[in-house]
Amino acid sequence: MIPSPLRLRLDSDALTANWRTLAAMSGSAACGAAVKADGYGLGARDVVRRLAGAGCRDFFVATWREALALAEEDVAVSVLHGVRDADLPAALAARNVRPVLSSVQQIRRWREAGGGACDVMVDTGMNRLGIRPEDVAAGLLDGLGIETLMSHLASADEDVPLNALQCERFAALRGRTGARRMSLANSAGIGLGADYAFDLTRPGIALYGGVPSPAFEGRIAQVVTPQAQILQRRLVPAGQGVGYNLTWTATADTEIAILNLGYADGYLRCFSGRGLARSADGVALPVVGRVSMDLTAIDVGAAPDLAEGDWVTIAYDLPATSAVSGLSQYELITGLGARFDRIWD
Ligand SMILES: *Cc1c(COP(=O)(O)O)cnc(C)c1O
Repeated sequence: MIPSPLRLRLDSDALTANWRTLAAMSGSAACGAAVKADGYGLGARDVVRRLAGAGCRDFFVATWREALALAEEDVAVSVLHGVRDADLPAALAARNVRPVLSSVQQIRRWREAGGGACDVMVDTGMNRLGIRPEDVAAGLLDGLGIETLMSHLASADEDVPLNALQCERFAALRGRTGARRMSLANSAGIGLGADYAFDLTRPGIALYGGVPSPAFEGRIAQVVTPQAQILQRRLVPAGQGVGYNLTWTATADTEIAILNLGYADGYLRCFSGRGLARSADGVALPVVGRVSMDLTAIDVGAAPDLAEGDWVTIAYDLPATSAVSGLSQYELITGLGARFDRIWD
């Protein structure tokens, strides 16, 4: 295969170190991993292999297609979006994969199909997926073989009273369902403290370098680093503009480089005039002008030796880049496109 002029450097040690940090913060609870959206864009299989090697046993995806892509990994997978009619044949045949049933209809469907072990999502205040606690009290789950009873926090990244309220509503279900384990916390939820860990935590973003709340500052390592190759270097004479609509004008003669990177790769237009690349020796190279579909210009005046064919590193520390771009840390990593070669170090 022809090497791509774009690559994502993926740091295996940082990924496993982040999981170990989250596992330690989870106390006596087991620590799983959310690997939906193809492992937040890193590649689910590669993430699962590394985390399984570190001791992770519970993985979460969104859909059955995502679950089946992990069929050869021999790990327990929970499908967060439950089970539709169209999923049933695959769901009944799959080994080590459970639906997370989240509606009355899904529970009926699973029972009628004679499905085996399952997980169940209860809504404790987010009004997204999940059955009502009242339905649990009324016996909806009676006789169901539940491995993990779950709920999901709406605002775990904020210090709001809803967190404790959701935690209380969830804790009130303890012993009411025959579930073997209970699970509430995503990454940010782990940072809320031991009460939120229950038996199993489900971090995603923090595994991949996200810092969801101040509780994680200084504890999470960057995992994903985009790099792009220089297609050409050129001089822009003073007074001339660069890129679509010439939104940037050189105030003095300026050396720029054109990178093989654009919004079709997930490097969105909000980085126009705001993004930053670095040379191998760390010189800052600001994005100038508008990001286009496949191309981005950077000012390389401070790096006289950078030439066509050289690689530069795109600044992509998730919390800092989120602040610069206005994109969420989740959007920043899940949006990185298929044109990147994903290279694990
Ligand atoms: C995505 C997801 C997670 C992981 O969330 P992060 O914020 O990425 O840690 C956990 N639980 C559920 C139900 C999810 O949908």
